[in-house]
Amino acid sequence: MNIHEYQGKQLLRQYGVAVSKGIVAFSPEEAVKAAKELGSSVIVVKAQIHAGGRGKAGGVKIAKNLDEVREYAKELLGKVLVTHQTGPEGKEVKRLLIEEGSDIKKEYYVGLVLDRATSRVTLMGSEEGGMDVEEVAANTPEKIFYEEIDPVAGLTGFQARRMAFNMNIPAKLVNKAAKFMLGLYQVYIEKDASIVEINPLVVTTDDNVLALDAKFNFDGNALYRHNDIIEMRDYDEEDPKEIEASKYDLSYISLDGNIGCMVNGAGLAMATMDTISYYGGSPANFLDVGGGATAEKVTEAFKIILSDSNVKGIFVNIFGGIMKCDVIAEGVIIAAKEVGLTVPLVVRLEGTNVDLGKKLLNESGLNIIAADSMADGAQKIVKLVG
Ligand code: GDP
Ligand code: MN
Repeated sequence: MNIHEYQGKQLLRQYGVAVSKGIVAFSPEEAVKAAKELGSSVIVVKAQIHAGGRGKAGGVKIAKNLDEVREYAKELLGKVLVTHQTGPEGKEVKRLLIEEGSDIKKEYYVGLVLDRATSRVTLMGSEEGGMDVEEVAANTPEKIFYEEIDPVAGLTGFQARRMAFNMNIPAKLVNKAAKFMLGLYQVYIEKDASIVEINPLVVTTDDNVLALDAKFNFDGNALYRHNDIIEMRDYDEEDPKEIEASKYDLSYISLDGNIGCMVNGAGLAMATMDTISYYGGSPANFLDVGGGATAEKVTEAFKIILSDSNVKGIFVNIFGGIMKCDVIAEGVIIAAKEVGLTVPLVVRLEGTNVDLGKKLLNESGLNIIAADSMADGAQKIVKLVG
């Protein structure tokens, strides 16, 4: 789960990590009121969307007076911001962060991420922060430094200082920067984050080290123990199909292809997507209906797939182990009748109650193309979708 920059900064503040003063605003009036309250001579008006690249897309404005704050707030609110992270459809700006301006001397990059290769949280840092960090990673990877963190010891002061030195933080600010990183690590661990990215971390002309941006991602499986984080969830920023799926405890991720997939088990779901791609097709989603899915759950899953206008065909690939094939068949039939099936449907069933499942589908009157294997099914649906 992602949160907005201003929410990330609230969290950082709670952990003693330095951020600028800022107030969230939902209207131009609130923006002006916030700017008055901050009282600084330079005010930054920042679009709050769950995507980076706002700076380059015109989502970060520097205002010199209250009239400019009002003007920028009017311009940004309701605007669809297209950044290199939003996709071509962009994201509508509904909230602003009104922040005290900072006099930046230099921009750096700091992040924490779980490195799956080492199974450790890794601190990353670079002196080449700011808006082009992707290019730094691609062209001058030697300018990015890593500290692998021992889960028992946690991030040590030594590691944080070594990182600050590697990043060429001015010597007199190394301790401030190290304190910043230690706080960042603490919030990352205590809140079960999976990514926290501060880009830029800045050194100001008055020798402060602070976070000018904050991107957090949290581990969805740990949210149950963080009510404060759950409260920060902004449904406006999420795919409605994924929200619907989460209500039924379905593991669903929407993708940009045109073949809807209904599969049980994450491994089989991945293999199905690979097989579709192998035969030249492109999956519209990842969907694992899970082990003990009920007919109701399958019905909802099927409805979600059908609600995606990009879907030009559906491939149901079920291996009935704990899951019974007749339950899947039942769900498919109910959903198809309720919503109306207008695209080709290829079904491959195998395992528990497979004969009963096939019988139900055959007698349903639905136009179903049966497949004998995963490869056969993938080939058939790819061909039908064209
Ligand atoms: P992103 O492009 O979505 O990552 O948005 P950021 O929050 O990182 O802002 C982009 C850029 O705007 C930063 O790299 C800064 O150069 C600039 N910026 C943001 N806040 C301030 C500020 O308080 N003062 C000044 N001078 N520039 C800022
Ligand atoms: Mn940024």
